[in-house]
Amino acid sequence: MNTATTDIAITKAKTSKITEVDFDNLTFGKVFSDHMLVCDYKDGSWQAPKVVPYQPISLDPSAKIFHYGQSVFEGMKAYKDANDDVWLFRPLENFKRLNISSKRLAIPELPESYFMDGLKTLLEVDKNWIPTKAGSSLYIRPFIFASGKGFHASPADEYKFIICTAPSGAYFSGKVKVLIEETYSRSANGGVGFAKAGGNYAGQFYPTQLAVAKGYQQVIWTDDTNHEFIEEAGAMNIFIRINDTLLTGPTSDRILDGITRKSIIDIAKAEGIPVEVRKITVSEVVEAAKNGSLKEMFGAGTAAVVSPISGFGYQGVDYDLPELTETYADKLKKIITDIQTNKSEDPFGWRVKL
Ligand SMILES: *Cc1c(COP(=O)(O)O)cnc(C)c1O
Repeated sequence: MNTATTDIAITKAKTSKITEVDFDNLTFGKVFSDHMLVCDYKDGSWQAPKVVPYQPISLDPSAKIFHYGQSVFEGMKAYKDANDDVWLFRPLENFKRLNISSKRLAIPELPESYFMDGLKTLLEVDKNWIPTKAGSSLYIRPFIFASGKGFHASPADEYKFIICTAPSGAYFSGKVKVLIEETYSRSANGGVGFAKAGGNYAGQFYPTQLAVAKGYQQVIWTDDTNHEFIEEAGAMNIFIRINDTLLTGPTSDRILDGITRKSIIDIAKAEGIPVEVRKITVSEVVEAAKNGSLKEMFGAGTAAVVSPISGFGYQGVDYDLPELTETYADKLKKIITDIQTNKSEDPFGWRVKL
């Protein structure tokens, strides 16, 4: 990354919490590093970002985030290799997507240098917080929300852009059993499904609770019109292997353009795996499960990277997936994480050194 072009004031925490953290037993997103980046939007422009100690924020009860849900976020990771070099994975893609999300939520777009230089400065200040154990990483959460006051249902005049980080361990969720959704929808044509908007998650929790009560761990979202096409796996993009072909749906208003998804498509193609990006019908997946050609299903996203699915429920019937010794899920996960953590060559030029 280039040296900082934005002047970023740094206020260091008086004491570090790092000695309280058990780096051998990290979970996901529960302990937070000593500092955070904060940048305010007011008087019609983004003000200079600054690094301050991690701390609660004070907001007016009428702040529009509470009432009208104007908020967007990103999720990314930093990795430290054996030489203590720090790596980011396609960070500009996260920056661009944050602004795509913001635009849809009528949030003012952020200048690139505020995001990239802010991130770089924050990571340099909290470099010691980046875990080194295999599978672990520093999870990075950039987000923007409406801090401006007033009950009037209109975009706020003030916003906060914050980046917090959380050292996190490998995400061993195990294989998940999923339910193909036939009633609720995550997103709709013309809606905000393509944006990383906080409210998209709020809307998923209830249908997911219902699925959990029926013995599933996750919901497979289908299109809102007829629940006929497979769209996403919880908050991850979905991949389905039928025979030796890897399928994933095309991005749209309803499907989030995941960075893991597009990286996996490129890696799979480079590995000679036949890839088809096209609409996938529920009926073809059920048919493939019945005739044995359905080999794998997995979710893809930054947090878990690849999350294998053991089986799915549809219209009251459960379908199990076979236990394969060699899976696309394992193979693709290894290739992408080796690139991310500087354990292999990076033929795609995705890795960025801090
Ligand atoms: C964040 C997210 C993904 C995954 O995106 P990545 O860039 O790979 O982390 C997929 N689907 C939804 C709905 C998401 O919010």
